[in-house]
Amino acid sequence: MSAPVGSLSRMRAHLDGEHLDVVVVGAGLSGIGMACHLERHRPGTDYAVLEARHETGGTWSLFRYPGVRSDSDMHTLGYRFRPWTRPETMPAGAAILDYLRDTAREYGVDGRVWLRHRLIAADWSSARSRWVLRVERDGAEQMEFTCSFLLMCPGYYRYDGGHRPPLPDVEAFAGRVVHPQSWPEDLDYAGKRVVVLGSGATAVTLVPALARTAAHVTMLQRSPSYVLPLPSTDRLVEVLPRLLGALGHRLVRWKNILVATAMYRVCQRYPRFMRGVLLRAARSALPAGYLVEVHFTPRYDPWDQRMCMVPDGDFFTAVSDGRATVVTDTITGFTRDRIQLSSGDSVEADILVTATGFNLHLFGEATLSVDGRPIRTTETVTYRGMMLAGVPNMVYVLGYTNATWTLKLDLVADYVCKLLRHMTDNAIAAATPSTPGPEIAITAFKGLTSGYAVRALDHLPRHGSRPPWQATMNYLLDTLTLRRTPIAKDMTFTPPPATPPEQPPNPA
Ligand SMILES: Cc1cc2nc3c(=O)[nH]c(=O)nc-3n(C[C@H](O)[C@H](O)[C@H](O)COP(=O)(O)OP(=O)(O)OC[C@H]3O[C@@H](n4cnc5c(N)ncnc54)[C@H](O)[C@@H]3O)c2cc1C
Repeated sequence: MSAPVGSLSRMRAHLDGEHLDVVVVGAGLSGIGMACHLERHRPGTDYAVLEARHETGGTWSLFRYPGVRSDSDMHTLGYRFRPWTRPETMPAGAAILDYLRDTAREYGVDGRVWLRHRLIAADWSSARSRWVLRVERDGAEQMEFTCSFLLMCPGYYRYDGGHRPPLPDVEAFAGRVVHPQSWPEDLDYAGKRVVVLGSGATAVTLVPALARTAAHVTMLQRSPSYVLPLPSTDRLVEVLPRLLGALGHRLVRWKNILVATAMYRVCQRYPRFMRGVLLRAARSALPAGYLVEVHFTPRYDPWDQRMCMVPDGDFFTAVSDGRATVVTDTITGFTRDRIQLSSGDSVEADILVTATGFNLHLFGEATLSVDGRPIRTTETVTYRGMMLAGVPNMVYVLGYTNATWTLKLDLVADYVCKLLRHMTDNAIAAATPSTPGPEIAITAFKGLTSGYAVRALDHLPRHGSRPPWQATMNYLLDTLTLRRTPIAKDMTFTPPPATPPEQPPNPA
């Protein structure tokens, strides 16, 4: 089906040749959230949500590996305007998908989603003050239409396959090699020896889930990560809303925001102390004498890379019970049923799962340009971590690395609604973030040190030495600055073209 899903009353017959106020690219957590904000705060906006895949949900519909769940707390991963009301803090992917789709339905957003519509190219026309979009439908047919404002919510990785580092002589391995991003439905791992390669959130999620039925699971990591057990439920979610109604949900959310922020700040400020706390937590969750120094002591300080949260310590339980083993080593080669390691040891395997990350990509692999001049992301400078200096009427969503994605999305969406209101009220056709002057030093973004974050530098816009040409990783600061800074600050506003594009030129 390539027509919109949902309420018929909102359907357009087609998009080809049309003009819309706003186009949202992507119907994942960000695109759905952004569209809900438009419905709530800019009712009457003529918008469409383009979704390249056959269904909505993005990450939460794509990832189907055993045990897939959120790896940060759902009370902040849920939208601010529609709280997650269940006590589970790290729910299963299927529950998150249901939540997203229920939200889309409740706010009437599903009636605006055009499935199997992939944005291929977007060119801003200064003469017409609009984006000219080239969109592929059903993987073949191309169409062109325009919009005044573009909201890019296509996530941060390629959907056609995950990242897999080179594996020496992997061809010699007779078992199946799978990536969590494209988990085969028919993969039967019951009674099999499974090796999970990696040490990130996906690996620590997979290990206990696979260990329930596999003969044995080995997590083979090059270097350890910090793994932190957290309660799988939050009793306050049952108590506070019962006493205080909606305010109770808001309090739970703010409690989680403040705890996570404090945890991050303390880790950054007192790394040695927090390192001790985290290693003690790991030690107390593992059998006496376990080699925590080898397998759970990272080379970096806490929160220099994303921390792995495990609900009720399920990962540690699988290791303690002997159903799973952690091996810290590097691969030198493969035989039919073994993985050879640098130490001279080897691990038996029937199935190899490469939990080795994503192929990063911003802007959904679409080609962006302004008046035909290509926008090369790494040559542009960010504006408030959500627009590009010199690029009119385009906002993108890229979540925090140290807090849940949705916190940033909700703030960006607030800003978008405020900007659109200002543009309508003042008859502005184009809002262009100013380019930084020569006094601003431009550098690459400095973020986490994990492999994927370092690989991301080849895709991210650059940063200026002062705001607004920076993306902060600080939700509390952003909450203040995005709400308080006047919308016109460091922004150029342009009135509509003298001859509106819909009308033929006046011969007089
Ligand atoms: C297993 C897993 C667990 C995670 N857990 C957490 C967590 O606990 N907390 C957290 O904060 N983050 C988590 N994340 C990060 C997660 O990706 C984000 O939280 C969030 O789901 C991103 O939503 P999004 O809509 O921006 O991107 P996506 O979910 O990637 O959705 C993007 C959508 O855009 C579509 N699209 C892409 N390109 C185009 C195009 N050119 N044209 C049209 N459509 C296009 C895609 O098909 C997709 O549907 C997790 C990620 C994974 C993989």
